[in-house]
Order: sequence, then structure tokens, then C-alpha cells
Amino acid sequence: MVTIDEERFRESFESYSRIGATENGGLHRLTLTEADKRVRDAFVEDLAELGLEVRVDRIGNIFGRREGTDLDADPVLIGSHLDSQPYGGRFDGQLGVLAALETLRALEDEGVEPNRPIEIVNWTNEEGSRFPNALLGSSVFSGGTELETALSLTDGEGTTVRDALSAIGYDGDHPVEPFDIHAHLELHIEQGPYLEEHGNSLGIVEGVYGMSWLRATITGESDHAGPTPMHTRSDAMAAAADAVSEINRLPNRLSADAVSTVGEFSIAPGSINVVPDTAEFTVDVRSYDDAVVAEAVERVHEEIEHACSRHATSAEVEALWNIESTAFDPEIRDVLEGVADDRGIAYERMPSGAAHDATRINEIAPTAMLFAPSVDGRTHNEDEFTEWEDCVVTAGCYAEAVHQLASE
Ligand SMILES: [Zn+2]
Repeated sequence: MVTIDEERFRESFESYSRIGATENGGLHRLTLTEADKRVRDAFVEDLAELGLEVRVDRIGNIFGRREGTDLDADPVLIGSHLDSQPYGGRFDGQLGVLAALETLRALEDEGVEPNRPIEIVNWTNEEGSRFPNALLGSSVFSGGTELETALSLTDGEGTTVRDALSAIGYDGDHPVEPFDIHAHLELHIEQGPYLEEHGNSLGIVEGVYGMSWLRATITGESDHAGPTPMHTRSDAMAAAADAVSEINRLPNRLSADAVSTVGEFSIAPGSINVVPDTAEFTVDVRSYDDAVVAEAVERVHEEIEHACSRHATSAEVEALWNIESTAFDPEIRDVLEGVADDRGIAYERMPSGAAHDATRINEIAPTAMLFAPSVDGRTHNEDEFTEWEDCVVTAGCYAEAVHQLASE
């Protein structure tokens, strides 16, 4: 059995949290910025101290390899991401990278040399807040996104990923290509309220929700807000408002886990005394059950149609993106459950409503995830918090599970 050093784990967490720290106890460490460079430097230094062979690939993913006793065995891949949301929290991503680092340190302490190598990774641009594509480094690695496409993405100021990587010295020369992986395990905070509500310290993630993104454009007619009677209007805004409130009621009618969100909304011409002729909004629907997502998409179309007919307008609805739910590897989940049982830790099997780098790696290798509870389910803000005891419990299970997977 591998035992993590709680004190050292906490010291690392606190020292990494100072890099890009905000006044209110959060983290502002957008990908490929100066703060990201400093945390990457700290990470590379820590890997070197462990005697790991460090590689940086062309999208800036950082890998460190600890050899096993069998030189031909496929490695176990562990890690997460060190970038944050703007004025985000200290736990999202960082906790997973530091649990992976602590796992390697604990193995080293105890002189444990499993037969399989272990590769630790920090993925580039998981958050997708400075550059548009979330899960960028893991998507290029898994083959879902072309390297050239990724390098050419620009931030709000027109800086490309390529230039941002070279500005901080992390434009590595290692090719971005998947290697054979025996198992991949990522620890992350839940970012939702379920573990806390049920009083569990540990979530064993069964898979990730499927989701569909849509964009609706409602077209009416602009008219003067004074002389045009209500019954002769084709008000695009009124139709959209109707549709949006129905879309928000949909999940309740479909399934307990379904969620729907209208996250972008705009109207035109946008004048106080003009009836709007155009309304445009996006819809994000999710559930762990792909049939529920499909049903939700159908109902979104219907609700928009009904709202349009009530307001003498018309609509076009465009499908932007669809991803089916993913199930993680049942054998790795069994290992995780065995570890939790051995330690007498109450856990909960649960799906993840959010996508993670592990979602991408699951496309090319057996993968699973562990969740630590998020207090009040709050995340992507400075109040994001996980009780330290829960971090320790989750990281302890993580380290032991990695040890067992590397010994298979
Ligand atoms: Zn994250």
C-alpha cells in the first residue's frame, strides 16, 4: 500500500496556489500567460527533482516519465491541468496534477517500483477561456484536433497559441502523438453539489454526460414601439423570451439528471423604441442518457416553433455540436472501488456533467476519474473550495489505485 505525505501534499498545494493567486483566495492563471509559465517551471523543477525524464510536446503538454521494472510495459498516465479560469479557483485541475505528483513522490519514498512506467502530464489549455477550444492539449494528443488548427487559434488580442507558447518557452519539440497507455486516471473536483449533499468524500466517475449545442435565430419584423398595436407585431424578442423559459422548464419534464442552458443571447436592432426583428440564442442540453439528450433537442425545436407561431415570427435552428455520453473503463472503476472499500471510505458512483481531459483520453485508452467534493458545488470562481480532509482522502485513494494499475 502506498501512503501519501499529507504535509508535503499540502505544502505543494499552497506553494502552487501562490502562483497567479488573487486577493480573494482564488487563482488567475490563464493558459500560456506569465503566471502559467511560472507554475510550469515549478512543475518541471519538481519532476526533475524526482529524477523523471521530462518532455514538452509541440502543444506545450508537459510529460514526466518514471520507468518501471519492465521496460516494454505500457505506462499508466496520471495528471490533469494547471491552467485556471479568469479569477477561478485553486482546486480545479491543480489538485489533480498535485495528487499525481504526490503519488510519484510517495512511490519514491517507499522505494516502490511497479513493473509499469508511470507518466505524469500537465495538459495545455484545459479551460478554453483564453483560447477558444477547451481540452485543447488532450484533444490534440488524442487526435481529435489537428496540431496546426490548435496552434493557429487566437486569443482576444489576436495572439496565436503558437506565439503564446514560444513567448513562455513551452513550444516543445516533442511530437504530439498518442502512445500506448495501459490506463489513465485523473483526479478532479466534482464542481457540483452531489457528493457534499450525500456526505461522501469520494466520487467514482462512471462516465461523462452527452451534450448537444444549438443556435436559434428568430426572425420577426421591426416596428415603432408606439403606434404598432400588440396584436399586429412580429416581435422576435417576445418569441425568444417565451422559448427560453420553456427550454428552462424542459429538463424537469425529461429526467432527473437533464440540464439545459441558454448561455448566449442577443437581439437586433437593439433600440429602446423599436420592436426587435431578430433574436439569436444558444442552447446547451445535457444528460448521461443520450436518448434524453435527443429527446431534449427535439423538444427545443418544438418549443421554439410554438413560441414563434404565438408571436408571428419564424425560426431557424442550427445544430452546432453533439457529443455522446462516454462510459469510463469498468475495470479501472473496479480497482477504484476496491481501494475505497479496503480503506473503508464511503463513495458514490456518479457521472460527470462536465467534460474533462480524461474524456479525450478515454477515446484512445482505458480511462477513469475520481472526484473530490466541492463545497456548495461552487467552481470557476474564487470561492471554489474543497475541504482539505477530502483532498487527502481522494488523493490517498488515487495514489493507491495508480500503484495497483502500475503493478498489473
Ligand atoms: Zn478542470
